[in-house]
Amino acid sequence: MTSVPATAVYAIDPDGRIAWTDDGFADLAHAYGSPHLADGSAVGRPLTDFVAGERPRALQRELIARAQSTGAPLDLRYRCDAPEMRRHAILRLEPRPDGGVVFTTWFEAIEERPYQSLLDTDRPRGAGEVGLCAWCNRVDDGGWREVDDAAITANPPRVAHTVCEVCELLLTTRPAGGPTRSGPYGPA
Ligand SMILES: [Zn+2]
Repeated sequence: MTSVPATAVYAIDPDGRIAWTDDGFADLAHAYGSPHLADGSAVGRPLTDFVAGERPRALQRELIARAQSTGAPLDLRYRCDAPEMRRHAILRLEPRPDGGVVFTTWFEAIEERPYQSLLDTDRPRGAGEVGLCAWCNRVDDGGWREVDDAAITANPPRVAHTVCEVCELLLTTRPAGGPTRSGPYGPA
């Protein structure tokens, strides 16, 4: 069984730059192949530097603005899958009086599954490109589906980080005073 860091906490200042990170963040950086970020070198950099894809970055900015405008914590459900694991995660955004935001992320559930080459960043890429939703980790290979159900060959295509229509709807249309939990897929 893979050991997974329990919780990671980090914060941004009012300008969207990383103000501090905790030990859980360092553990996460080690566990997910970015050990260079474990020494605090992420501090001072824009948070959006660490979000892949233009639409996911824009959505991140919108969610931060929503948390800041309501002044209430926002809990968002997302997937942070690995090639052999479905990881169901929560991201909590807590606005601070100074205009910064504290982020806390943890895993709600982890399920093992057969290896998925598409999600293996060390795997050489074949021809073509498929969309990968940054929030639900579904793949668009002519329709949005779980990566397990997509027709991915041994030489997976390149990945374009984007946001699917369902997540887009759930994450952008909730009124500010509405439910604080969002994102489509909880554990089975
Ligand atoms: Zn999605």
